[in-house]
Formats: sequence, structure tokens, C-alpha cells
Amino acid sequence: MTARRDPWGSPPWRISFTPQRHKLPSHLDFAIIGGGFTGLAAASWLRQLAPEKSVAVFEAARIGAGASGRTGGMVLGETAAGNQPGLGDVLAGFRSILEKLKVRCDFELTGAWEIARHQTSGEAKHQQSPIAWNDSGTLRVVNEVPGGALDPGKLVSGLARAAQCHGAQIHENHRVQNVNWSTLPELHLSSRGSQPKITAAKILFAANALSLPQSGLAGMHPRLTLAILSQPVSEKVLAAIGLAPRKPFYTVDFPYLWGRVRRDRSIVWGAGLVQSPDADDLEKVDVAAEESAAAFDRLEQRVLHLHPALEKVKFTRRWGGPILFRDSWKPVFDWHPQSVASEATRKGGGSEDSASRNAVVLGAYAGHGVALSTYLGTWAAEVLLGRRQLPQWSALDP
Ligand SMILES: Cc1cc2nc3c(=O)[nH]c(=O)nc-3n(C[C@H](O)[C@H](O)[C@H](O)COP(=O)(O)OP(=O)(O)OC[C@H]3O[C@@H](n4cnc5c(N)ncnc54)[C@H](O)[C@@H]3O)c2cc1C
Repeated sequence: MTARRDPWGSPPWRISFTPQRHKLPSHLDFAIIGGGFTGLAAASWLRQLAPEKSVAVFEAARIGAGASGRTGGMVLGETAAGNQPGLGDVLAGFRSILEKLKVRCDFELTGAWEIARHQTSGEAKHQQSPIAWNDSGTLRVVNEVPGGALDPGKLVSGLARAAQCHGAQIHENHRVQNVNWSTLPELHLSSRGSQPKITAAKILFAANALSLPQSGLAGMHPRLTLAILSQPVSEKVLAAIGLAPRKPFYTVDFPYLWGRVRRDRSIVWGAGLVQSPDADDLEKVDVAAEESAAAFDRLEQRVLHLHPALEKVKFTRRWGGPILFRDSWKPVFDWHPQSVASEATRKGGGSEDSASRNAVVLGAYAGHGVALSTYLGTWAAEVLLGRRQLPQWSALDP
């Protein structure tokens, strides 16, 4: 039997964990929609803090099928909109979560380079930029920020393994079609022709750029973002192009470009956003189709012309993955609008008592979600358990 072609292409890392199969429960204390970093971290944390509670993750496809299994694997602090009040130290928190959950994912905190075509006087200390690439001007290092890289396949596998070891169930190929909010929230699922229903006391929506209507995320921008892999290069080539220190990099001006060197000296490069032809449904995008193919061609040409040492390099993979952002570039971490509405209805209108709200939506990290999704996923678990407040800066737009 031939393997089915992935319309979003295949990244180079492997997800080496298959969850155990379970009979579907009829009721749960906590239901999590989405088996990426956010949902899997939240599931592990819920069971770690409250082992007596029932927790299940419902994943429409396979764990890591969304951005988490396809991400570039660059680990950054803060959010795409910079630091936020009360956010805390994302990188230190991320490291501590990995330790507590015993997740091994080749995480290395090397620092990351911001690169740009412009150079201000304050950036004169980087006159000796190790990078001088030809890309609509000369790209140079203008700043170094805390950060690093990891193996995304190992992070997905490690978080899923931790969730299962702590007693959470993971149901792959179980799509949540909708949630009935009239009384106790009821999840309507679809799985291989059947339509089971499950009630849940509390829900976390962690579906990222897919299922926006169910998540209550109107007015956001879902896109497929593209990445390519160039074949392993020699240490001499890495030295020539300035990447011998293995620091991941991203541009702070346009045209956008990001990337990092993997352990086998192959290089991940990323740039380009593709929109769905039809009503924001990214599942309809095929990266082999004309628009994406042209964007991949442009990206490869840019890489080949960055530096003479790269002009003969070959590319071995092309893939894309979903990202979601809003105009402010701040992640969304808020009560689900329906959860607030049904609470007000139950109380005869008006009440905003967070202790009895029953659903949180978390996502929209833009291209800045590797560490943040795990970090905020555990925070969401604490909110759902009533042990912590939501941040002030992450409310849904009215
Ligand atoms: C190509 C690419 C490169 C990136 N590079 C970086 C980077 O280098 N550094 C960085 O910090 N960030 C990067 N990002 C962003 C980062 O990967 C994401 O922010 C992060 O993975 C989001 O995790 P998540 O769990 O919230 O979402 P996802 O991983 O997308 O998980 C959501 C899951 O929900 C499932 N789902 C959707 N609808 C339903 C439903 N109705 N029922 C059940 N399941 C459902 C999906 O199948 C999916 O598995 C990149 C993203 C992409 C796509």
C-alpha cells in the first residue's frame, strides 16, 4: 500500500509516539481540543496537578498534525508582540516544564540572531557581523536575543508521552465538529463515520489556525507558512556563511527570512505565507499547487543567492504549516465567548464569575509559539483548575 501524500508536505523530523487506544468516555472533567504543543502540555499539566480528574485530548488527525509537527523548531522567549506584563520568563519556564515532564527534545539554548538590511548606530557593535548575505540589500546580524532550537518531533512525542504517562487519554482521528453550550458543554465528535457525543465540565480550545468558528476566533488571520530544507553542508560552508555558531536567525525587516542549522548540518529556511482560496479553511491548501509552488521556488532562489558558498546547494524538502495571528500580534488566552455567554444565561444575565466559566481558548502565537505554547498550555491548565488567573493582555478582541 502506498502512503497517502500529505497536502502540506512532510517536515524532516519524526513523531515517534502512538497513543494507546481507549474506549470513549461519556463524560470528562477536562476535554482538550487539539493535539499540538498547547493541548498536550495542558493535558500533562492537568493530570500532574489533579491526578484524580479525567482528562482527554481530541485530535482531528494525528498528534502534531498542525503547526507543532511542522514548526521550524526555533525556541524564542516573549511573544510575537514582545514581552507582556506578568508574562514571566518564557524560556526559563519552558525549560522547567520540560524537566518536570521529563521531555527530551534536543533543546539547546544557544541564543538567536536578529538580522536586518538596515543598521542603526546602536547596532555598530555588530559591525563584525558573522553574516553578510545578499537578499534585497545586505543582511547582517543586528542583535542577539535569548533563544535556541529543538527537535519538534521529539517535543510532540515527549509531551504526548508525558500526558499519557500521567493518565490523560489521547484520541487521534477524533475531530470536534461543534460544542453544544446549552447546559453542560457537549462535544460533538466525528470519527471514522461515527458521531459520538461527550459532556465535559471544562474545555480547552487549542486548535490553533483550524476550527476558528468552534474556537470563537472570528476576525483572525489563518495562513499556511512555508519552510524548506537544504541538504547537509560542510563545516567549511557553515563557516563561510556565518552559521558555524549554530544560532537560529530571523529577519526584523522585510522580506522575511528565518532559519537554523540542524545537527546533521542540513539547514531549515522559512519565509512566505499562503492563504486559503476558500473562507480561511487551511485544510484546503495543497503546497504542491501553483501559488505555494511559486513561493517555494522564490524561497529556494533567495537562499541560493544569499552567499556564493550556497549557490550549488540542493533542497530536499518543502512543507507548510498553519499559523494564526491577529492585528496586534498578541496571542489569545481568554474565556471562550460561548462559555461567558452561557454562564450569563444560566445566571439570568450579566455575571462574570470566572470560577464557574467552563472553557478557555488559547493560541494565535503567530510564528512565535514553540516555547510559548507549552508555557501557556500549562498556565491554561492552572486556570481551568481555578488556581491561576488569565493574563490581562491576551483578551479576545471585542
Ligand atoms: C512552518 C512553521 C514554522 C514555525 N516556526 C516556528 C519557530 O521556529 N519558532 C516558533 O516559536 N514558532 C514557530 N512556529 C509556530 C509554532 O509552531 C506554533 O505556534 C505552535 O506549534 C502552535 O502549537 P498549537 O498546539 O497551539 O497548535 P497546533 O500544533 O497547530 O495544534 C492544533 C491541533 O488542533 C487540531 N485540531 C484542529 N481543529 C480540531 C478539531 N475541530 N478537533 C480536534 N482537533 C483539531 C489540529 O489537527 C492540530 O493538531 C512555526 C509554525 C509553522 C507552521
